[in-house]
Amino acid sequence: MRKRNFFAGPSVLPVEVLEQIRDNIVDYEGQGLSMIEASHRGGMFEEMYDQCLDLFRKLLGIPEDYDVYFLGGGATLQFTMIPMNFLLEGRCADYVMTGSWSNKATKDAQKLGRVNVVWDGKESNYSTLPDPASIHPCEDSSYLYLCANETIGGIEWKSFPDTGEVPLICDMSSDILSRPVDVSRFAMIYGGVQKNMGPAGATFIIMRRDMLERRNGNLTAYMDYALHSKDKGLYNTPPVFSIWAVKLVLEWIERNGGVEGMDRRADEKSGMIYSVIDSSDFFRSPVDKAVRSRMNIVFRLPSEELEAKFVSEAKAEGMLGLKGHRSVGGLRASLYNALPVDDVMALADFMKEFERKNG
Ligand SMILES: *Cc1c(COP(=O)(O)O)cnc(C)c1O
Repeated sequence: MRKRNFFAGPSVLPVEVLEQIRDNIVDYEGQGLSMIEASHRGGMFEEMYDQCLDLFRKLLGIPEDYDVYFLGGGATLQFTMIPMNFLLEGRCADYVMTGSWSNKATKDAQKLGRVNVVWDGKESNYSTLPDPASIHPCEDSSYLYLCANETIGGIEWKSFPDTGEVPLICDMSSDILSRPVDVSRFAMIYGGVQKNMGPAGATFIIMRRDMLERRNGNLTAYMDYALHSKDKGLYNTPPVFSIWAVKLVLEWIERNGGVEGMDRRADEKSGMIYSVIDSSDFFRSPVDKAVRSRMNIVFRLPSEELEAKFVSEAKAEGMLGLKGHRSVGGLRASLYNALPVDDVMALADFMKEFERKNG
């Protein structure tokens, strides 16, 4: 039996996609060659890649004047590439510090230029977010940076600040394609694909093309977005396997109602777990209810002993990945797009039963 996969990343993939990969890994659609042994220049790969990019554009509604492509290096490489390209000499960049991932991005940017921390959630132990209307970029800002969904802390922006002329740059690693997004409000959206879109290896980049005009010149080749843009991400060898799987996941999303379908599923699935938490004194959510994430649900039990017991008994029932991130402890259930509703129902039942026995 397949395990119920609540890992935060890499994470669950639709079983249909795994089966398609299995069926085509040796001989891709009868072409006598595997996708992962084909050249990335021309032919079979590029045809598949173009379909992948087109479908991504269609599902998310990405406007024509934006580039879309995939890079390697994980979302983490973008913590460096963004300031290298866009944090301009003599000017500052605004960062909103809302938890582990945006804080890492902030620290990298601070090594490369002048950073203005517009808001820091430290006082609340990163359990809440600022009112978007209260976020204003500094006078000479090169861009304003934020993380849409803090995968470790379990909080998610429900709406975004209006930064006017200042480019808004957003890490959507862990909530991409889980809800409709007005892409035109962002200068750049990026993220690792390994949470909501596919297996590890690729990072998606969505960037308004005019951003290239304001970037720093004289960067080494890989660091320069302009080179990647010119070749739709094929300046060097792309993460071929990951991209192929992403294309299959995108097709699965399309078959399942597109982004609106994923949005409804996310409401339904997260609602099941939050309603168990909200109706009990045994389970406790450490985050502000108004901004709690539908993708990564963090919760606590009355003691660390009970939390350890919860993780091990869940594992015995085939439910994996429920331990909170090592930096914050507690418990976390990641409910990404591909996670079946049935698995979430099983977790909700398990939680109620665990409370009955231990509460
Ligand atoms: C996982 C994650 C990252 C880091 O991704 P890597 O691909 O491991 O570099 C960055 N930001 C967010 C929001 C994440 O969830």
